[in-house]
Amino acid sequence: MEPNRQCLLGCSTKELEQIALELGEPAYRGRQIARWIYRKQVRTLDAMSDLPAAFRAHLAANYRLGLPDVVHREVASDGTIKYLLRLEDGLTVESVYLPYPDRVSACLSTQVGCPAGCRFCATAQGGLARNLTAGEIVGQYLAMQAESTRRISHVVYMGMGEPLWNYEATVKSLRLLGNEVGLSMRNLTVSTVGVVPGILALARENMPITLALSLHAPDDALRARLIPTARKWKLDEILAACAEYARITKRNLTFEYLLIGGVNDSPEQARALAALLERWKLPGNVNLIPFNYVETPEGFRRPTKEAIARFRETLAAAGRVTTQRMTRGDAINAACGQLRRRMAQTAEATVPILSLLPPSVRS
Ligand code: SAH
Repeated sequence: MEPNRQCLLGCSTKELEQIALELGEPAYRGRQIARWIYRKQVRTLDAMSDLPAAFRAHLAANYRLGLPDVVHREVASDGTIKYLLRLEDGLTVESVYLPYPDRVSACLSTQVGCPAGCRFCATAQGGLARNLTAGEIVGQYLAMQAESTRRISHVVYMGMGEPLWNYEATVKSLRLLGNEVGLSMRNLTVSTVGVVPGILALARENMPITLALSLHAPDDALRARLIPTARKWKLDEILAACAEYARITKRNLTFEYLLIGGVNDSPEQARALAALLERWKLPGNVNLIPFNYVETPEGFRRPTKEAIARFRETLAAAGRVTTQRMTRGDAINAACGQLRRRMAQTAEATVPILSLLPPSVRS
């Protein structure tokens, strides 16, 4: 890292215009830089070919781009690519590229590690190292888009970290993805463990993004066992904040429900979950996520197919629309934080990507 040179990644067009003016150039040079960074995903200032060479040199003397480096890629047979990206200070984060027939989605991290301590999550086991900057959040998108022939149109903040505990950078990065990268804000989803002040603040930003709540349990006692930090806010407080979010933004929410065998997957718990959401008159689907295996002291395991189907049918009978997250990229450690942990234990060679990509991703 070269700390004496400031970072361009993370600046809005307006901020880049200001930088151009300060360097004695017209404001439109800033707009050109924004286009190169956010729309064309260049990796070097030299690649900004419509800037005069003298200005490029002047820019390079004072600024750096600040993109993360790809240090590892794992490609699954379904086309999912899990990335390990190195930030400028050497710390690493995970990001995932998820191709579907009708769209491509990216899953981004908001922190290096995570302070939430969820018992079922691989990221939580290492604790929090630091927050990411807005540029580092958007940089994950740009690093993956630069390698993809398909446009990444959807983004979910479901990688490492708790977005609402890194509130300012999260909001700034959402605006950058909308205004600078040009994504529809309706295609951006922020997933939270239930940080009440963050949910209420996000509602007031009035961005048409989707809020996803990691619910995972129908009552406070069980939820506190799975998510120790959840003790800080009761479910009623969290759901009241969600109701406020829905009221202000007029957006449906998504309720994520991680299914762990014998822990939270009974029909009684499905009925309690439906009743809880009904009580708060909360619009939105429940997204069932079968536990992605991570070694835990509790010995958590994925429920049987039958238990998952039963849970889903019970919710449906109670009038709740459910979706089930397709299990993707299992073989490449696609669960939160798994790749990074394994990489910390073994020094593996970087996978040469293009030769490994399945045709569905290349086309
Ligand atoms: N901190 C945020 C976002 C990151 S986690 C949140 O809690 O929502 C994204 C989602 O992955 C959350 O719903 C989280 O509970 C879930 N998750 C974590 N570990 C998992 C595992 N082993 N299997 C399946 N889902 C997991």
